[in-house]
Amino acid sequence: MSASTIRKAKKLVEGGGVEKIDDDLFQIKSSSDPNKSYFVTSDSCECPGFKNFYKFHHGKGLKANCSHLEAIRIFKEKN
Ligand SMILES: [Zn+2]
Repeated sequence: MSASTIRKAKKLVEGGGVEKIDDDLFQIKSSSDPNKSYFVTSDSCECPGFKNFYKFHHGKGLKANCSHLEAIRIFKEKN
């Protein structure tokens, strides 16, 4: 995972952009458009970056990640 993904994730958590909806459901504000938010679970996200990951890395056995999934990880560590 890139350092910028982690930086973005930290910013989202610190800026209060992560809201817990349920045990494994979070609503996270988009970092590029504050009017937008995504529903995120511990292993899936609605954002284009997550969806595109499998398009670009198809068949490499990698697990998709994005700043939102990373934000949840950080959020859970803190709470
Ligand atoms: Zn995402």
